[in-house]
Amino acid sequence: MFAGHFGLAAAVKAKTPNVPLWALMLSTQLLDIVFVPLLLSGAETLEAVAGEGYGGSLIHADYTHSFVGALLLAFLAGWGAGKLWGRRGGVAVGSVVFSHWLLDLLVHRADMPLFPGNAGAFPLLGLGLWQVPTVSIVLESALVLIGAVLYYRSVASAAERSRRGWAIAAGGIMGLLLTLSLVTDVLG
Ligand SMILES: [Zn+2]
Repeated sequence: MFAGHFGLAAAVKAKTPNVPLWALMLSTQLLDIVFVPLLLSGAETLEAVAGEGYGGSLIHADYTHSFVGALLLAFLAGWGAGKLWGRRGGVAVGSVVFSHWLLDLLVHRADMPLFPGNAGAFPLLGLGLWQVPTVSIVLESALVLIGAVLYYRSVASAAERSRRGWAIAAGGIMGLLLTLSLVTDVLG
């Protein structure tokens, strides 16, 4: 669900123009970015579900994708962003980081623990929309579309009349990038 996360970042950018887009894009994927070194070191693992492509994995990201772990990362990122872009920016970045967990909750199979390392062995969370690819693809497409439209509108209204062309180009490029990431999501 790369595309869906990015779509949300583009939408938030439209509302908090002083936070750079790269920071919001990074924030939506922060949990997965921290996941990479943990995956490489074997602390978190990925298990393919036989016969499935799009969203076909059980993801044992017991730290980064635990409810409390995600909350902690969101808080740290929001605190850091607050220093750079003020209170509003910090809240936006923190919320965007945590939104990754919420969107993952919709699509992941039940593989997300409540506490880091699944302490307490509570039931694992995940509503498993990936098992109904049509629904999750529609959901991602909607996020992409909303993100692209809001982003375009914010650039277009901020730009001077003489720079309308650039604004349209920027909005178009964003839409294209989001669509491409959706296509790779579905195919990869
Ligand atoms: Zn994730």
